[in-house]
Amino acid sequence: MFIDSHCHIDGSEFDADREEVIARARSAGVSKLLNVGTGDPQSGAFERAVELAEKHTEVYAAVGLHPHDAKLFDDAASQRLLKLVQQSKRVVAWGEIGLDYHYDHSPREVQRVAFQRQLELAHDANLPIVVHTREAEADTIEILRDGWNHHGARGVMHCFSGSLELARATMELGFLISFSGVVTFKKADQLRSVAAAVPLDRLLIETDCPYLSPVPYRGWRNEPAHVVEVARTLATIHGKTLEEMGSITSANFLQLFPFTGA
Ligand SMILES: [Zn+2]
Ligand SMILES: [Zn+2]
Repeated sequence: MFIDSHCHIDGSEFDADREEVIARARSAGVSKLLNVGTGDPQSGAFERAVELAEKHTEVYAAVGLHPHDAKLFDDAASQRLLKLVQQSKRVVAWGEIGLDYHYDHSPREVQRVAFQRQLELAHDANLPIVVHTREAEADTIEILRDGWNHHGARGVMHCFSGSLELARATMELGFLISFSGVVTFKKADQLRSVAAAVPLDRLLIETDCPYLSPVPYRGWRNEPAHVVEVARTLATIHGKTLEEMGSITSANFLQLFPFTGA
């Protein structure tokens, strides 16, 4: 059994064959998916993500403003997201939130404020968070230490591609470390050495599809069934069988999101 802890199958890339994609995941042994809504909160994108989770027993949803869209964060946006959290039990996490200084689609100061305010919203909603961070390690650690450390609910460092220091600092705060197809890439020796240093009880797997197809699917649209390849690489790194790595990462997911095991 495998769980894709982060995917975006509500997007238009899957409009033509979404049901088949979900069926293929099931046949590949991927029993649950966390679908992460993104986009403009006033566009209906998050409602669509939650609807998808309401419609499929194996799909859960996360809602939160991506750092790319931090400039859209305001009271109306947070009200709309909060409403979804209150209305649907299928929303099990707040995210993805964080900082992306690689693309800088929103000004950095605006990203920091949206990140901090959403930590408070997630705390009030009693939800774990899904963190996206790129080229912003020091600020991410500082904001999480200040704004999240003392809170009970934990979270996920998603699509981890950072340093061992970032992994250690966030694990200290109670976070799980989720690896995507990037860990299967030929040139990702550095990332594989970070993955080797993450204890088994902190590992998660994800596709982040439609992006980041793992080897041997590079160049194609990614989909949840392919999360098995991420598990395969982590299994090799940690000296486990593929099945063992599937069970380990699924158990970690279910512990962080107990509702999804019900
Ligand atoms: Zn992300
Ligand atoms: Zn994502």
